[in-house]
Amino acid sequence: MENTVLYVVVPCYNEEEVLPETTKRLAQKLEALVQIGKISEKSRVLYVDDGSKDKTWRMIADYHTNGKFISGLKLSRNRGHQNALFAGLMTAKEYCDCAVSIDADLQDDINIIDGFLENFEKGCDIVYGVRSSRETDTFFKRKTAESFYKLMRYMGAETVFNHADCRLMSKRALDALADFREINLFLRGMVPLLGFKFATVEYARDKRFAGESKYPFKKMLGLAIDGITSFSTKPLKFITYLGVLICVMSVISFVYVLVSYFFGRVVGGWASLMVSLWFLDGVLLIAIGILGAYVGKIYTEVKARPRYIIDLFLND
Ligand code: UDP
Ligand code: MG
Repeated sequence: MENTVLYVVVPCYNEEEVLPETTKRLAQKLEALVQIGKISEKSRVLYVDDGSKDKTWRMIADYHTNGKFISGLKLSRNRGHQNALFAGLMTAKEYCDCAVSIDADLQDDINIIDGFLENFEKGCDIVYGVRSSRETDTFFKRKTAESFYKLMRYMGAETVFNHADCRLMSKRALDALADFREINLFLRGMVPLLGFKFATVEYARDKRFAGESKYPFKKMLGLAIDGITSFSTKPLKFITYLGVLICVMSVISFVYVLVSYFFGRVVGGWASLMVSLWFLDGVLLIAIGILGAYVGKIYTEVKARPRYIIDLFLND
């Protein structure tokens, strides 16, 4: 509908290499959608500069002044992809009817926006972009990502398989998302909790056309752990089960020790003692570690610090 205001929210961290091409493609896309009367002229690409150290913000400011459709939001420092995206969405919702989130490297095919808008017009509040193939990702990235989705599901957190953060959300859905007060953001777990009518649209995921991934393995692992500890308390239950299992085992070994004692075979025992000692200490440390992960999370949540701080906002 030609009065639909669409905001395309793009988090950027040191993306000077991809921004020229990304801006060209996204502006062209919006122009085309305006031409065929799908969206309003007031639609924008909202770049969120997540505390980049390179020219990213200067470029965004320049596109805003000299180009069409480009807005920019500058965070006061690097807060990570999830926070940057959230900041963009929360800012966009004051101006738009729907917002699409997409990465700056355009690995997600931007033509998916057509499919998103189609479903939005049909009355969906959320449309998930789902990767139909991951052939362009490295084997390692694909396997770790897929195991992550499986693990999440097993842990009881409802996520859409092979959906990252490429999606459309209506203003209504964004308003509902704003009511989630958690500090540790894991958007792809939070959005399904909103409910509302939703749809999925498939697309092929491309390679990054320039620059390097800003999600090294360490950050991916962090996101995975955050996802699990924010959406599931199963690990805490595992500790209990493991404890019960070990208690049962210790009863069996107690019987064994008693029997050995009465039959006079009590020499030695050093090896078994050492083995069980190390094993139990390991189990205890893991258990404390898991507890610590949750306690740490409660700590950051209780402090309730702001999830992002806006430095500058360029919009017209
Ligand atoms: N990103 C961000 N802040 C960060 C790290 C990444 O805003 O601290 C952005 C980055 O600019 C990109 C998106 O998050 O738009 C996804 O990052 P990337 O493409 O490097 O991840 P990958 O596709 O390799 O998982
Ligand atoms: Mg990428």
